[in-house]
Amino acid sequence: MGFCFYFCLRWWRTWTTPFVERRRRLVEELVSLGFVRSSKVVRALLRVPRHLFVPPHLVDVAYDDRPLPIGHGQTISAPSVVARMTELLNPDVGHRVLEVGTGSGYQAAVIAEIVAPSDAPRESWGHVWSVERVPELAEQARRNLDAAGYGDRVTVVVGDGSRGLPEAAPFDRIIVTAAAPRVPEPLLEQLAPGGRLVAPVGSRYSQVLVVVDKLDDGRIVQRSDIEVLFVPLVGEYGFPGEEVGEEDYYPRSI
Ligand code: SAH
Repeated sequence: MGFCFYFCLRWWRTWTTPFVERRRRLVEELVSLGFVRSSKVVRALLRVPRHLFVPPHLVDVAYDDRPLPIGHGQTISAPSVVARMTELLNPDVGHRVLEVGTGSGYQAAVIAEIVAPSDAPRESWGHVWSVERVPELAEQARRNLDAAGYGDRVTVVVGDGSRGLPEAAPFDRIIVTAAAPRVPEPLLEQLAPGGRLVAPVGSRYSQVLVVVDKLDDGRIVQRSDIEVLFVPLVGEYGFPGEEVGEEDYYPRSI
């Protein structure tokens, strides 16, 4: 028992401390560069272990601010992009959130840590539904989310997320993490009054983050934030016929 404890502790010190430390440095950098300000987003970024969401051979660069390949021509977004999108989305405890494009599951975990904080009572928890069109990625994302402790706060669904997820609507927040030619109409319909949607909108090779608010009276108000580069959203309300996309890229302005 003591023997096991000793080795567990040694393993924990060797492997966990550096990751925690690297994560802390990365988050400090994102704050100093102005990508993120709110304490709830900072807290979530500090808590979610990004190294559990990247392929094993890339674990060492998990805390660099860059997108990384996750297979099937897709990427886990750069931490600065996740930070900025989460900041714009402004989720809150108890919210019901839809993500389109699960990828690795990392962005979903960051949002889950805000809507259902690990240290808050379960009755107060909200939930994240995340739709992924590639079944193998969805399966890997489920494994990643389970390993990181978010399996019960995020439901991963395989399908065309450009149509939203009518069976779980309405949502307080909707985030699209693939480039869309325009904001998919079904997503606007599935947004609750008072709700907010964030999506990269533009061409295949350049997009801006668009923030859409649905006011209590149902009116839609839209504004633009930073420039980004995401893999394309495909499917009924996405780009036609694209199977493999570009890596998403650092935002060029903020
Ligand atoms: N949020 C992810 C990164 C997303 S990459 C993360 O944190 O890792 C974009 C993802 O969107 C890819 O996995 C791609 O397969 C998926 N995607 C593209 N079009 C889609 C659609 N119509 N419905 C659901 N997922 C889609």
